[in-house]
Amino acid sequence: MTTLSILGSTGSIGTQALSLVRLHPERYRVEALTANRNASLLFEQVRAFRPRMAGLVTPVPPEEIPEDVRFCEWVMGEEALRVAASQVPCDEVLVSVVGIAGLQSVMDALAAGRQVLLANKEALVTGGHLVMDAARRIGKPILPVDSEHSAIFQCLEGARGNVPTRLLLTASGGPFRTWSRERMQHATRQQALAHPNWDMGAKITIDSASMFNKALEIMEARWLFDMPPEKIQVVVHPQSIVHSAVEFQDGAVIAQLGVPDMRVPIQYAMAYPERLPTGGRALDLFELGQLTFERPDPERFPALRLSVACLNAGGAACTVLNGANEAAVASFLRDEIPFGAITALVEGALEKLGPMRADTLEDIFEADRLARRAVAELLPRVRDAAVD
Ligand code: MG
Repeated sequence: MTTLSILGSTGSIGTQALSLVRLHPERYRVEALTANRNASLLFEQVRAFRPRMAGLVTPVPPEEIPEDVRFCEWVMGEEALRVAASQVPCDEVLVSVVGIAGLQSVMDALAAGRQVLLANKEALVTGGHLVMDAARRIGKPILPVDSEHSAIFQCLEGARGNVPTRLLLTASGGPFRTWSRERMQHATRQQALAHPNWDMGAKITIDSASMFNKALEIMEARWLFDMPPEKIQVVVHPQSIVHSAVEFQDGAVIAQLGVPDMRVPIQYAMAYPERLPTGGRALDLFELGQLTFERPDPERFPALRLSVACLNAGGAACTVLNGANEAAVASFLRDEIPFGAITALVEGALEKLGPMRADTLEDIFEADRLARRAVAELLPRVRDAAVD
């Protein structure tokens, strides 16, 4: 029996992880569940999975907690994440919270010696060096839930210490893969939210359209697999069947394939090193017929270039890229700016802030705050420029 704490249980990854617990009740027991603000769904989950602790980051008054879920310990506010990550006894902590809060949760879980299943990008993007050090100290690998990184992790399982010459990080290309640069500049929220293959949250879907998602994934891969950015090649693969691949010095390329279904990487992390059924469809190569691959266009997707530049710059540059992008996407989702302004705001924030340290968690959180503030300050100017 594996005991599990799920941070962000009402989101896309959290709910799918719980569907896997439901599928294998003999294998998993849920000890803690936290949500940001979806109280009604969290109450339902607590009824169904009966954890010993539950919490909401956005607090509700105690009288709003229904009678039939008061059997567990309730923690409100940011403290809920800390208790679920490090105080409730469990084997595995699935960190599927959104945003930079994930970094603190990952560090808390690792400090408590927990196996971390990582579905939060920001932890590695902003604090990759701190996270990997902490994981090494407790001798437990970070198990990636991001589909591409899970794929690379799986490909490396058979590597027997052979160091890859390249990581081939696949990308669907998103809804704007075939759009012109001019058309992309003025794309609307509805257009950017129409992802062809994956059903995900709004933020990550916008990031997929701009390829900032892939920019963040280059950073994740750099830390998870200790690979320099120039050995990480993004490959646009519209069918999302090859989830990523690894190349070795003899020219062999090992890839991981499957239908696009997040339950596979979630289950792989949960059951590692075992594999269990996920309830998903099997891959039918005959039905697919063909798989295609394209080189990403750096003109239309400047996020990729920015990612490598920030990794090479070091310090808190990746944190600034991430924080600025998050603030810009939030603004785009409120229909305040056109799509093209997202990249302009990220570039503006990087330029405005210049080099900053990222030696401690506090350095990183400060850089994140400054990046968001820079976007707020740049917003009026960039918005007007993008309209012209
Ligand atoms: Mg991914």
